[in-house]
Amino acid sequence: MSAPSRVAVVGAGPAGIYAADILTQLAPGTQVDLFEKLPAPYGLVRYGVSPDHPRIKRIIESLHVMLEAGRIRLLCNIDIGTDVTIEELRSAYDAVIVATGAITDIPLDIPGIELPGSFGAADFVSWYDGHPDVATTWPLDAESVAVIGAGNVALDVSRMLIKHAHTLLDTDISDNVHSGFAANPIRELHLFARRGPADVRFSPTELRELGHQHDVDIVVDPADLHGDRHIERMTKQFAPTRNVVDTMRGWAAIADSERTASRRVHLHFYQAPVAILGDDQVEGLRMERMTPDGYGHVTASGAFVDHEVQAVYRAIGYAATALPGVPFDHATRTIPHRDGAVVDDNGDHIPGLFTTGWIKRGPVGLIGSTKSDARQTVETLLDHSGRDTTAGAPDIEQLLAARCGHRIDWNGWLRIDAAEQRLGTDRGRHRIKIIERAELTTIGGGRLRHSALADGRQR
Ligand SMILES: Cc1cc2nc3c(=O)[nH]c(=O)nc-3n(C[C@H](O)[C@H](O)[C@H](O)COP(=O)(O)OP(=O)(O)OC[C@H]3O[C@@H](n4cnc5c(N)ncnc54)[C@H](O)[C@@H]3O)c2cc1C
Repeated sequence: MSAPSRVAVVGAGPAGIYAADILTQLAPGTQVDLFEKLPAPYGLVRYGVSPDHPRIKRIIESLHVMLEAGRIRLLCNIDIGTDVTIEELRSAYDAVIVATGAITDIPLDIPGIELPGSFGAADFVSWYDGHPDVATTWPLDAESVAVIGAGNVALDVSRMLIKHAHTLLDTDISDNVHSGFAANPIRELHLFARRGPADVRFSPTELRELGHQHDVDIVVDPADLHGDRHIERMTKQFAPTRNVVDTMRGWAAIADSERTASRRVHLHFYQAPVAILGDDQVEGLRMERMTPDGYGHVTASGAFVDHEVQAVYRAIGYAATALPGVPFDHATRTIPHRDGAVVDDNGDHIPGLFTTGWIKRGPVGLIGSTKSDARQTVETLLDHSGRDTTAGAPDIEQLLAARCGHRIDWNGWLRIDAAEQRLGTDRGRHRIKIIERAELTTIGGGRLRHSALADGRQR
């Protein structure tokens, strides 16, 4: 087919940026508009990746280069579905690629989940990463905390909870986040996995990092690490599993007398959450012991154990939300598609509608896999025959001018970027994030001189 002349991409996370960039390379004449509902681009790289992971955060630099090239028009602070509908976009563009990602927690349906002190990891991550749409304070007042989950987000959350605040001063966290962590009285953190140590989804490096935290000891029960033929089989077969289990065995071998740190992380295996205990506030977590069958499966044992904790974080997975006007599979929480072409209930492609990233595949996989996924979607898009969008199509420029006066373009983002770097430089740091939407919008919209930031506007 002939290349599309105008394509809209919804969501300026890595998936949306990669898709926009690949499209401009494969179809150089195509005009690509990249819509983002937040005042700042980069999705979960900015608002999910842990602030103490500067190497991963630096992926932003390569995404920046793609946007800087000038082939993609960035339009931030525009919520598609609210400010402009998908139907309007579909009429105004030859194709629309939905790359809206995932930002909420999968629900955990156990008694007590609604108690104060019970939190979703996604909300906590959004707070410490300075997401502009969440509260600026977080109740870090528990001495004993439970984290439920066996993946890297559970590790991120545990590491951030157990860290001493001064070790975060070389990151981009804002002052409200730093003072929240500085007041954190935590002493014990219990991290729970339903299955055994050979079945966790921790990456070896992230697990090891947990043991490198200042003034933190790790406690593992040696009984959880031995005597299961499944563990022996998995560690023989898979090097990452061997690494993970070896790291845990190293911790399990440390004598209690050598553990002198003021904070401790306890790793628990074969325990599944049954109820969060407490009347008006979390007072404990009831777990059921699981019995391994030697083949990697576990069954409920009927034996329960109560842990005294004052806060519970569930890190059992992220979930996407539906975008009005786009089909959504509520069971998988993804957009139904064929190689990136969005399909309706009958499995027929909806002309001009495509998807990529976590909203397409589900919230699994690293940023790197988002790139190959974006390529698949763009190739599918270019394979589909053109559609006529001219008849009765709204003038998108008029529509944006009328409804999106608050929008932030590339130069607006550069102003925010510069303001954050200046805040950091003034305090001997690389960057300090600006977290309030109104402030981001004011700076991005060019209505505030950078110098006005220096005098205590940042909290
Ligand atoms: C806590 C956490 C830590 C992680 N750490 C790492 C790591 O260390 N290394 C690694 O490789 N990967 C990491 N990941 C995974 C990585 O973040 C994802 O693979 C990647 O961000 C998915 O990209 P995406 O573009 O699909 O979604 P997102 O990054 O979520 O981007 C989606 C974008 O769409 C925007 N959007 C949503 N709705 C609308 C709308 N209606 N209108 C306009 N815009 C909209 C959102 O604001 C967002 O900017 C981590 C993920 C999480 C949750």
